Amino acid sequence: MIEIEHVAKKFGDKEVLRDVNAVIRDGEIFAIIGPSGSGKSTLLRIINLLDRPSGGRVLLDGEDIHAERNQALSYRRKMAMVFQKPAAFNENVYENIAIGLRMRHLPEPAIRQKIEEALEVIGLTGYEKRRAKTLSGGEMQRVALARAIVTEPAVLLMDEPTANLDPVSTAAIEDLVLQINRKFGQTVVISTHDMLQGQRLAHRIGVMMDGVFSQIGTPREVFAMPKNKHVARFIGIEN
Ligand code: ATP
Ligand code: MG
Repeated sequence: MIEIEHVAKKFGDKEVLRDVNAVIRDGEIFAIIGPSGSGKSTLLRIINLLDRPSGGRVLLDGEDIHAERNQALSYRRKMAMVFQKPAAFNENVYENIAIGLRMRHLPEPAIRQKIEEALEVIGLTGYEKRRAKTLSGGEMQRVALARAIVTEPAVLLMDEPTANLDPVSTAAIEDLVLQINRKFGQTVVISTHDMLQGQRLAHRIGVMMDGVFSQIGTPREVFAMPKNKHVARFIGIEN
């Protein structure tokens, strides 16, 4: 369980997150939805320990993840993040996916087996030796997803993973997220500015506006009963 309590974040004088509160349950797909600049990436970076909140706290299974710096590695190992713009760190697909496994000092045969399984899940069997630079955007994003899941993290964080993809690649990633969540019961926190993606994927949606979650609910609840006119306007229901 991830508990986000009164999280605030300032960059200089600018208060991007003011008072963010949410409880993300184990095994759920939680979508953070909001306009560009509303702080979705900032919140994900705070959950993933890439940044610190200027106020409030984030609890992972009851423990404040930012409290002790020397614990950061153990918290980070429970989580994996897929970024908006996939970065190829290494030469070939195999090494790209192997990163997290090497950090855990797994023996090479075990690494090889996990990578083969992951490639099968993402539909890229046989791609081990392909140079990462030669992959299409959709393939690279699938490799990024494989890299994230291969270490079996309890929490998968995804920052607009389909923002740069065409509808077919987007559907492939969405299918994978649903499949992974069903199969392994991972908690998934995904940001998107696409309300319909939230509706397709998420058990619950948090609508981020003006530094807070204006509304948290199932897609059905948010669409049927937007809490205020700003939420209504954002999800495209003018009234
Ligand atoms: P998008 O949908 O465009 O990805 P977002 O909701 O993810 O937007 P963030 O990237 O979290 O938004 O940014 C929120 C605001 O904080 C923006 O105005 C951004 O310019 C600002 N911001 C983010 N990181 C920094 C930083 N390191 N220094 C200064 N300002 C920052
Ligand atoms: Mg963002």
